[in-house]
Amino acid sequence: MLADKDRIFTNVYGFQPWNLPAAQKRGDWDKTKDLMAIGQDAIIDKIKASGLRGRGGAGFPTGMKWSFMPKEPRPDRPNFLVINADESEPGSCKDREIIRHDPHKLIEGALVAGFAMRARAAYIYIRGEYIREAETLFAAVKEAYDAGLLGKNACKSGYDFDVFVHRGAGAYICGEETAMLESLEGKKGQPRLKPPFPAGAGLYGCPTTVNNVESIAVVPTILRRGPEWFASFGNENNKGTKLFQISGHVNKPCVVEEAMSIPFRELIEKHCGGIRGGWDNLLAVIPGGSSVPLVPAAQIMDCPMDFDGLRALGSGLGTAAVIVMDKSTDVVRAISRLSYFYKHESCGQCTPCREGTGWMWRVMERLRTGDADISEIDTLQQVTKQVEGHTICALGDAAAWPIQGLIRHFRPELERRINERQAGAGMQEAAE
Ligand code: SF4
Repeated sequence: MLADKDRIFTNVYGFQPWNLPAAQKRGDWDKTKDLMAIGQDAIIDKIKASGLRGRGGAGFPTGMKWSFMPKEPRPDRPNFLVINADESEPGSCKDREIIRHDPHKLIEGALVAGFAMRARAAYIYIRGEYIREAETLFAAVKEAYDAGLLGKNACKSGYDFDVFVHRGAGAYICGEETAMLESLEGKKGQPRLKPPFPAGAGLYGCPTTVNNVESIAVVPTILRRGPEWFASFGNENNKGTKLFQISGHVNKPCVVEEAMSIPFRELIEKHCGGIRGGWDNLLAVIPGGSSVPLVPAAQIMDCPMDFDGLRALGSGLGTAAVIVMDKSTDVVRAISRLSYFYKHESCGQCTPCREGTGWMWRVMERLRTGDADISEIDTLQQVTKQVEGHTICALGDAAAWPIQGLIRHFRPELERRINERQAGAGMQEAAE
């Protein structure tokens, strides 16, 4: 189990105040000027050496992403850092804990990361429904400005850096990085075609990097404690500590920081008091937020909770939002509900997603009640393949994968419902 001394987020449960004096006691903003003094390329090299991979779901190496930014920005095209705090994936709730209890980690991280990528400013795009969290964030940014930690000559480093907080209006799709840029520019939040990628033409057409809240908030601690310390946790290629968010049928749902690659069973036993009704009662787990395929109980028990371990099971770590389902779960209904979510959140730009998400949800609803034909299971599978990879953004994939996981692992359950319904209809006909 991760020792307390190795936790980055020491106030994730809010036992202490979030404000600047309390954050400084916890070590935030401690000689930030010295962290920056090692130079921009040295910071990027350290983040590369730490093995940090993006915590927003895709798992792209963070240091490498930063290195794509122009080293000498033109005065009329400044570099920007955009921080994705739009956390809307069902099951995800870690960025919320960082923002409401440890916002200065994020703000200090924004300065250091922004400096490393030669950014003029950071925009934190926060989910519209996070009302109290946004209030905390606005107040924390003001504290940092008042203390001279942001703005002109931030932290007396000689570097000018601004942080703006922008509230979203409640659309899941604005968590997609290019839709977020559109939304920040005041337009409808619809994803852009790529290329050009944001590092080439992002916010207001300027070079931009979009990072998740957790990816940025861990940066100052990695620099203070050294990349080797961070890289000492987890398996090869899956380094560091990670906030896991465990919900569903465990005895004590929680958000907890743990070493990457911790086995699933250990994570649940140590932090959640085990599965409700015992381990034999576990049905399946969605390990990375609603957009990744579920994994049946037997396969996930000893799986390392990291990018590669879960990919080997045909699923993914995503945001590490672990949704646990015990045997009381109507798994077809659960996945159908997720299908409804993606149908509702589709921005409607591309046909396979706009039409496909609604089509898939309607078939899922009929499979839920058994009012379908067995052959429709294969048809549904084919349609998910026609949506997957054929859309502008990953929402199409996110809508397809949970259904593919259901068919892969629970086809007998789908068939049972159809057969039972047909048998029931047959008996009724005979009685008439
Ligand atoms: Fe919009 Fe869906 Fe296309 Fe993404 S995949 S751009 S959400 S229609």
